[in-house]
Amino acid sequence: MNINRIFAFVVLMSLAVAVMAGSKVVAHRGYWQAPGSAQNSIRALVKADSVGCYASEFDVWITADGVLVVNHDADVNGVVIASSAAHEVLAQRLSNGEHVPTLDAYLATAATLPIRLVCELKVHDSRAQERKAVKDIMALVKKYGLEDRTDYITFSCDAFREFIRQAPESAGVYYLEGNYVPSQIRHMGGAGIDYYIGVLKKYPEWIDECHSLGMYVNVWTVNKPEDMQWCIDHGVDFITTNDPELLQSLLSGKVSDTPARAAAAAR
Ligand code: MG
Repeated sequence: MNINRIFAFVVLMSLAVAVMAGSKVVAHRGYWQAPGSAQNSIRALVKADSVGCYASEFDVWITADGVLVVNHDADVNGVVIASSAAHEVLAQRLSNGEHVPTLDAYLATAATLPIRLVCELKVHDSRAQERKAVKDIMALVKKYGLEDRTDYITFSCDAFREFIRQAPESAGVYYLEGNYVPSQIRHMGGAGIDYYIGVLKKYPEWIDECHSLGMYVNVWTVNKPEDMQWCIDHGVDFITTNDPELLQSLLSGKVSDTPARAAAAAR
């Protein structure tokens, strides 16, 4: 290998490391502030992909009769998901007119897109329901061949352990509650922390601790430009936000107006 080749190799490797080292944008509940979108809608997933987000986060519940659906709140229009039949839940519409999606339909669309997925299992009253949900999520992710680009997050300690037990090696499993230090998460087999911005600002040393343990740092839900910049400057790996285009513009150094900011200004 001559000196020019060695130099080119070093430059390329440095560029690769620089590209991998930057913070990545995760759309929180999809890009729901884009026109025609709604939280956890399939359109929000497609929008997050269309603006080039690294990943899109969504929330999952299981109905009383065992169907996985995508929604944030425990109820949709007063229909409580975990204690209702699927047909009652799926008859409900989101604010953009879409019906509440099944996880099956959601993943069927995701399989046609390159975007990564961050699947949150919500905390259910029943551990049995959570365990069934974890098992059935794994089966659906496998059905659509999404094992290599789906990560899992939860506030449920029990579901966290179940995800670690059942998820493939390639998947990252993260805990959301913020009450474990990085070494405890490492000991449990987690891929890292996924904590509230307030927790991370209180314990910024956890960022380096995670990295030194070979783990990643995720943060939610970061919507203020000054908080986004703080996360970028502190080397947070994945930043979950309601305004992915604002975060992208900060990362690129070119701040521009976004649909989310225009909507906020109009309110
Ligand atoms: Mg969520």
